[in-house]
Amino acid sequence: MNSISNINYLPIPIVIIDLQSDEALSNLAFNEAFGFSVANLKALNKRLAQAIVPEYPLENNGYNTINNQNNEFVSVIIASNITDHHKAILSLQIIEPDFKFFFKNKSCVKLFSNIPLGIIIKHLDTDETLFVSDYLISKIEYSFEEIAKNPWRVFTYKEDIALQETMMNKKLKNGMNAVFFDKRIISKSGKIFWFSEYIRTFEHLGEQYQIIALRDVSNEKEIETELQRSKQIVEDAERLKSAFLDNMPHEIRTPLHAITGFTSLLADPDLSNEERIEYVKFIQDSSNDILNLMDNIIEIAKLETNQIKPKREKCYVNSIIDKAYSDIVAKQNILEKEHLEVKAFKDNPDPMFTVVSDPERIHQILSHLLNNALKFTEIGSIEFGYQVANNNQIDFFVKDTGIGISPEERKIIFKKFGKSGNINTNKNRGSGLGLTLSKKLIELLNGQINLESEKGKGSTFTFRIPIDNEQKITITRPSVSGDINWKSKTILIVEDTDSNYFFIEAFLERTHANLIWAHNGFEAISMFNENKVDLILMDIMMPEMDGYEATKQIREINSTVPIIAQTALALPDDEEKCYESGCNYVLVKPISSEDLIATVKRFLP
Ligand code: ADP
Repeated sequence: MNSISNINYLPIPIVIIDLQSDEALSNLAFNEAFGFSVANLKALNKRLAQAIVPEYPLENNGYNTINNQNNEFVSVIIASNITDHHKAILSLQIIEPDFKFFFKNKSCVKLFSNIPLGIIIKHLDTDETLFVSDYLISKIEYSFEEIAKNPWRVFTYKEDIALQETMMNKKLKNGMNAVFFDKRIISKSGKIFWFSEYIRTFEHLGEQYQIIALRDVSNEKEIETELQRSKQIVEDAERLKSAFLDNMPHEIRTPLHAITGFTSLLADPDLSNEERIEYVKFIQDSSNDILNLMDNIIEIAKLETNQIKPKREKCYVNSIIDKAYSDIVAKQNILEKEHLEVKAFKDNPDPMFTVVSDPERIHQILSHLLNNALKFTEIGSIEFGYQVANNNQIDFFVKDTGIGISPEERKIIFKKFGKSGNINTNKNRGSGLGLTLSKKLIELLNGQINLESEKGKGSTFTFRIPIDNEQKITITRPSVSGDINWKSKTILIVEDTDSNYFFIEAFLERTHANLIWAHNGFEAISMFNENKVDLILMDIMMPEMDGYEATKQIREINSTVPIIAQTALALPDDEEKCYESGCNYVLVKPISSEDLIATVKRFLP
């Protein structure tokens, strides 16, 4: 505090405050003007102390009143400066006795010119603007006259006018001396500044005055907005990321994590060559998993949206089998499972034997079933091949002596991402999409997949597909001609596959029958209970509850309603099972419109 000697004899009242120790010193001019000296912050006049309180930064500079030793108010202008050494230097200009005169007198207001603050002082009783600081004039580019003759809110940026008014009303309503808020001001040339505005009314010798003090906070606001924008970007990205991750199947996250994890491990300079090769292999395997997964997801999506049309062309069945055989033997070697016996069966050994269907799809389905067989079989054999069921259908099969599939697992494996619980080894990695895709492809070919399996003994997947639809249609039941009107009849269609239902719906459209749709056995029973149903078309292979079970349960409630099963007859005793469970008739898929209507006609009461 020894710097006081430098300022002691200056003619302006000055106070220096050490903001760390709260010690304060006033110079002689101060002591003379106010009749007391200042030793610490507490001893300082309360108003003056407030002038350096950070919450009121605008009061650091500007108009204030100070009580002198006789407890009279002395009006002062304070210019404050906080130094690097945490000292507040307050220099005070006493503006007694004629306040109005003071602000009209150019030489008197010079002190204000150096303060980097916008200041407006108004005499409220006459609404006269006494003073506008040069700083404000140069900043907002309006002259003293322009600022003086307009209400201050005219210069306020239009989106902030409401705020300004709210604050002024609040001040008025609550009888507050001062309000303090941030707002934008627009300059004459259209520049927008953020100002921290402080408006205060005060009394001086019985008259009302207002001081508006403005501090330019545009830079701070810009930083604040920038920070907020960055925060928002980060938050948005974070939200998107977690929504994406939440929706992303575990199957994709696992290889992704492996890729990111091993990639960062690769950066370690101390890795041995073997480790590096091993990590790269992990990354390659995981990348392939993701690629396969994506391919499958895209293909399933295309099938679900009917974007894939099956081809109908000559298929050289034996060459499909030969290709599948050589592929699987090659994989067998890679997986070091040469000990497994792989056998291929050809019902018709003639190399020129052909059927009409989609050869690419048949190959795709067979190779997927074969890959699974290889994946899940450690000892024994894999047999696959085909059998021509009749002139119109062909059965393909893939049989293994592997781990088998339990009835519980069977419920999930045809669903997307459905895998049995105990196969999470690296060797048996898979997405759980292959069977979903295969089933959908078989349905695309108008066929049906079937599975027979016993846990621990092995599995047999079969799929039967029609090989020449046109021929099939010619072997029909009595054709139906003329108008049919089943307006008063309700037919319950039990079908889990949307496209199959839409076929039936299209076939029955001309009959005007009232159609209701159940997606599985459970729904079929409750819909049967809730509606007066005249006939049921029952699909057999369905999730949750299949057609056999649903038929049995409906028969317990009703023994007469005609139930017509529709099935691909994947196995020889399927037809018998339909009748055993209580169906009146079995329609073999693919069903033609003529077949369907003729059959329904026979059974409708
Ligand atoms: P993934 O790509 O995981 O093999 P799939 O849809 O092809 O997916 O198979 C789903 C699940 O069905 C497998 O994870 C496995 O649990 C079971 N599975 C499929 N084929 C066989 C099989 N031949 N033997 C035993 N389990 C099998």
